[in-house]
Amino acid sequence: MSQTRDADVVVVGAGPAGSATAYHLASTGLDVALLEKTAFPREKVCGDGLTPRAVMSLTAMGIDTSEAAGWMHNKGLRIIGGGMRLEIPWPELASYPAYGLVRTRTDFDDVLARQAVKAGAVLHERTSVTAPVLSERTGHIAGVTARTEDGEVTYRAPVVVAADGNSSRLALAMGLQKRDDRPMGVAVRTYYTSPRHNDDWLESWLELWDRADGSPGSRDRLLPGYGWIFGVGDGTSNVGLGILNTSTAFGHVDYKGLLRRWLDQTPEEWGFREENRTQPVRGAALPMGFNRQPHYTRGLVLVGDSGGMVNPFNGEGIAYAMESGEVAARVIAQALARPTADGRERALQAYPQILKQTYGGYYTVGRLFVKAIGDDRVMKLATRHGLPHPLLMRFVLKLMANLTDPRGGDPMDKVINALSRLAPAA
Ligand SMILES: Cc1cc2nc3c(=O)[nH]c(=O)nc-3n(C[C@H](O)[C@H](O)[C@H](O)COP(=O)(O)OP(=O)(O)OC[C@H]3O[C@@H](n4cnc5c(N)ncnc54)[C@H](O)[C@@H]3O)c2cc1C
Repeated sequence: MSQTRDADVVVVGAGPAGSATAYHLASTGLDVALLEKTAFPREKVCGDGLTPRAVMSLTAMGIDTSEAAGWMHNKGLRIIGGGMRLEIPWPELASYPAYGLVRTRTDFDDVLARQAVKAGAVLHERTSVTAPVLSERTGHIAGVTARTEDGEVTYRAPVVVAADGNSSRLALAMGLQKRDDRPMGVAVRTYYTSPRHNDDWLESWLELWDRADGSPGSRDRLLPGYGWIFGVGDGTSNVGLGILNTSTAFGHVDYKGLLRRWLDQTPEEWGFREENRTQPVRGAALPMGFNRQPHYTRGLVLVGDSGGMVNPFNGEGIAYAMESGEVAARVIAQALARPTADGRERALQAYPQILKQTYGGYYTVGRLFVKAIGDDRVMKLATRHGLPHPLLMRFVLKLMANLTDPRGGDPMDKVINALSRLAPAA
């Protein structure tokens, strides 16, 4: 006999999207069941880099992001490419702080889940959701079944949130497939003991080179993909690279070999060599530009990677996971306060519209950008001619990290906001 437990909202997955949703829902006094198949602390494949957008979302969850609380702060982005090395500080804005962070996901996701619990959400670890439970009358989701240490448990709620990441079995089971007309990335990362571990800039490599080794016929070769080196501050650096599906190399690449070849060209003293590697090289997908839609259907709300919310410009997914969680919580709280089923449904339908208004145009511009840089020649031209112009690069940073003031911003903000407004929503 399976047990049944009731809640106001069931949230499936306790990554940044799920924990942020659960935190904001619980803060309004709702009874939230947060279901997670693993147990914290646990690893998650990621670059561990957080922009000022993510810092804002952490602050909105009441999380202390000071260095004293264990966060590694950074000043901005260092870009390496076209023979140049450029440091661009995070912009000074009313809307976002001027610092970013690095924290391993082993710690980060644990901190967020605990914060959701502090706000009153009930976290069920080692609880693997297996299927939606549908209302026979309406066809809407009415809960989920899960495999737990106590056997099968059914969690029932009028609204269920899919925060179960890129593969989102729950969304799939509700008939929501991935769209293949949206950008997708694949990235790998690992950690090395390195003297660069306390670098206070996020370092991004626009060109990865495999240098000639002096043997006959050998020559410098440009490798596909973009790399990063993020100091974690604990003696190690998170190092990785990603490739977009618009690149001709996508789908037939030996990612581990690629990472090795790139890092072998970096200075020996940085330490990015096999003997200093502290973790296996692991990879995962980055679903971009709203690759699963609609974000609300039949009682199911999609947040974070389950709704393909990674920013196509820079591969950042954590901030969007947390922001969508906050928006979803606000909408769900309003919906659950409505006295009728029709009223509730109308309120929930607002969620995909808000997402489209907030990110849709920007993601469309991002999709065009990703398409353009899929052509090596465009990327080469942009690197050669863009990087030598600091003012242009400040604009590019604002655009790529989606950091502008919506009201009263500078002329760069106005151009970026106008672009996003004018582009059709993704
Ligand atoms: C190599 C790599 C590097 C990246 N680097 C960065 C970076 O530096 N900065 C950044 O902002 N973003 C980065 N991203 C993207 C970022 O990792 C994701 O966008 C982010 O994790 C999305 O959060 P989420 O909560 O939606 O999903 P996830 O973090 O994937 O969380 C989903 C959760 O759901 C749980 N779950 C899944 N299925 C079930 C189930 N059936 N039942 C119960 N629980 C379930 C999982 O265990 C997991 O805890 C990177 C991604 C990759 C692959």
